[in-house]
Amino acid sequence: MYENEDPALSRYDLVVVGSANADLVVGVERRPAPGETVLGSDLVVHPGGKGANQAVAAARLGARTALLARVGDDAHGRLLLGSQREAGVDTGPVLVGGAPTGVALITVDPSGDNSIVVSPGANARLTPQDIRAAAPLFAAARVVSVQLEIPLDTVAETARALAPGTRLVLNPSPPAPLPADVLAACDPLVVNEHEARYILGILGQEAGDTPEEWAGALLGHGPRSVVVTLGAEGALIADSRGGGGVRVPSPKVEAVDTTGAGDAFTAALAWRLGRGESLEEAAAFAVRVGAAAVTREGAQASYPTAEEVGAP
Ligand code: ADP
Repeated sequence: MYENEDPALSRYDLVVVGSANADLVVGVERRPAPGETVLGSDLVVHPGGKGANQAVAAARLGARTALLARVGDDAHGRLLLGSQREAGVDTGPVLVGGAPTGVALITVDPSGDNSIVVSPGANARLTPQDIRAAAPLFAAARVVSVQLEIPLDTVAETARALAPGTRLVLNPSPPAPLPADVLAACDPLVVNEHEARYILGILGQEAGDTPEEWAGALLGHGPRSVVVTLGAEGALIADSRGGGGVRVPSPKVEAVDTTGAGDAFTAALAWRLGRGESLEEAAAFAVRVGAAAVTREGAQASYPTAEEVGAP
């Protein structure tokens, strides 16, 4: 039992600690070779970054959500703050300045293949000190969610700064080696196949071939629970307190764009866990949210309300 599941003790259902990026997208006939210049379509700018995506997804579902991130004092930072506020996220904890807002420079060709350059910018300047300074925020959270698009020592400090009653949900994306105490704090660790294999590889363990094997092997390294996302197949959950290896199928949908679906899934899962649901109940809700997100274009623009997924 996490004490902060008591609503009287928590101001936020979910505090997301993570990245905020402007995604700058240009369509091209052909992606340029080295030294080559090609003309592309008009520039489209979308709010993105895993932290910002998760916060918007949770708030749109109705979760009381705050974002702890860093953006630049620039137009992209204002765009990101605007999309957060529009979704109902408390942006009070967002830090502004120190570097330009993170950007992803994306070129997409007609077949849908893309090339992406990420400039982390302000995301790389979210420091462990920023986390320590946010102690009151953590004390007011039922659940804290974090990903790896910010410095690893900042992620580690987040795990260490949790109030005793607060639950940590961690999505190790992009994958990187996690300190043992951070892995042990995850409840759950949320991974896709690639992340599961990467982390088991770093830990020097044979991954096996099935999600059941990956989840079991990961549990052996300390997380209290593990969720493996399986795209159109939904997810698999495993809990060290019992209930190993349960498949949670996804509703069948026509997938239009899977960008940001994992972020929507994780945000929905974190919110429902904070409401005291079991991992299986929360995952059953999260696959509905993930499935809804893939039926529409974009990341944040595709995220459903609770009403749209037919949930209270
Ligand atoms: P990631 O995008 O992080 O690799 P997945 O592809 O496993 O993660 O997708 C995350 C979640 O999004 C899945 O668990 C599922 O709920 C949903 N999802 C992704 N693709 C589809 C799809 N084609 N149909 C239905 N749901 C999907």
